[in-house]
Amino acid sequence: HRHLGYASPEGVEAVLDTGHFHPEAIDWQRLKNYRASGGYALLTECRAGEISVETLMQTLETASLRGLGGAGFATFKKWEFVRAESGPRYCAINADEGEPGTFKDRYHLERLPHQFLEGALISAWAVDAEALYIYLRDEYPGLHRVLRDAIAELEAACLVAPGYIILRRGAGAYICGEESAMIESLEGKPGKPRHRPPFVAQVGLFDRPTLVNNVETVYWIPRIWARGADWLASQGRHGRKGLRSFSVSGRVANPGVHLAPAGITLNELLEEYCGGMVEGHQLAGYLPGGASGGILPAHKADIPLDFDTLQEHGCFIGSAAIVVLSDQDDLKAVATNLLAFFADESCGQCTPCRVGTEKMLALLENNEWNAAELERLSQVMVDASICGLGQAAPNPVLSLLRDFRDELAEQNLIVKG
Ligand code: SF4
Repeated sequence: HRHLGYASPEGVEAVLDTGHFHPEAIDWQRLKNYRASGGYALLTECRAGEISVETLMQTLETASLRGLGGAGFATFKKWEFVRAESGPRYCAINADEGEPGTFKDRYHLERLPHQFLEGALISAWAVDAEALYIYLRDEYPGLHRVLRDAIAELEAACLVAPGYIILRRGAGAYICGEESAMIESLEGKPGKPRHRPPFVAQVGLFDRPTLVNNVETVYWIPRIWARGADWLASQGRHGRKGLRSFSVSGRVANPGVHLAPAGITLNELLEEYCGGMVEGHQLAGYLPGGASGGILPAHKADIPLDFDTLQEHGCFIGSAAIVVLSDQDDLKAVATNLLAFFADESCGQCTPCRVGTEKMLALLENNEWNAAELERLSQVMVDASICGLGQAAPNPVLSLLRDFRDELAEQNLIVKG
């Protein structure tokens, strides 16, 4: 598939849509190939004043581009907020991708790093940023090399001033995916989330207004411009707009990143993209948004998967990390595994989360679960934790208590209350 790549925009699309990618086809990553397919034309036109920020924001609004790191905030609005603050401003790209089950940013960065860099530079241009920071997950050393080489190519081609893009390595902390913790870490401090307000759009990196975007969000900007806003907006299903890069893992025949319409249901995703379940396994449930997004039962596999649609079921889609569970998975082990993860990754600065995750883990390790006690503890964590980690940590447990009572009983777990 080497020659399907940068030779034509359709080729790139075909590769992305089908996921047909040969890992040795690294020539797709090269600047000259990206430029040959029209890459960096948008950035050049923006910088030359041929396209205004307002026009680009209008395009992103029409395309319904939203923050694909998990929050789903409208991208053009975020730009607007930062632009409204007085300079100097910064732009920081969150490439920490630490949510368990999420690997879509890696997928896109490995394939088209220059499309990402062009999108990131356009975001930085849109807020007139003094510098562009990229905070890369340290568990992606291969990507560090890819990005370092790509940035060197850009500097050599005079497309970016030397030192304008600053590539920083994280240090393995999940919490640094939270934007204010990431900013603390970029400043050289321990990655602990800040109280809000003020928001990072007002007081961010080095106390300056900062635009924080996820990798995939900016990755789509050049493609939206090339294909037209209506193209992306028309891709959704069940009334939703856009495409989502679903990171699918667990008991499916064909796991991986599947680029699918926003609003697709799990049943459709399984059937059309994942080749169904692994032979001999029956769908029992699924995590729609990694470790934090809760767990949905098999009979809720016809819900549109997108932002704003899962709340009524106590779940959220976040970064679209779908982990599929089967009748052969031990639900107690799933819950204790997730809580052990949160207890380990809690930054420790607030008590409801630091103590709450450990306490909840201890309660889950019993052979008898006290639902009332677990729910009370969850409420404290949700109400009083500083950031999303402590607030979302009880989600898997609350999901099991709400939707999996029969399954827990079948697995000989006694739930009282
Ligand atoms: Fe840290 Fe947890 Fe409090 Fe967030 S909720 S600030 S991770 S202790």
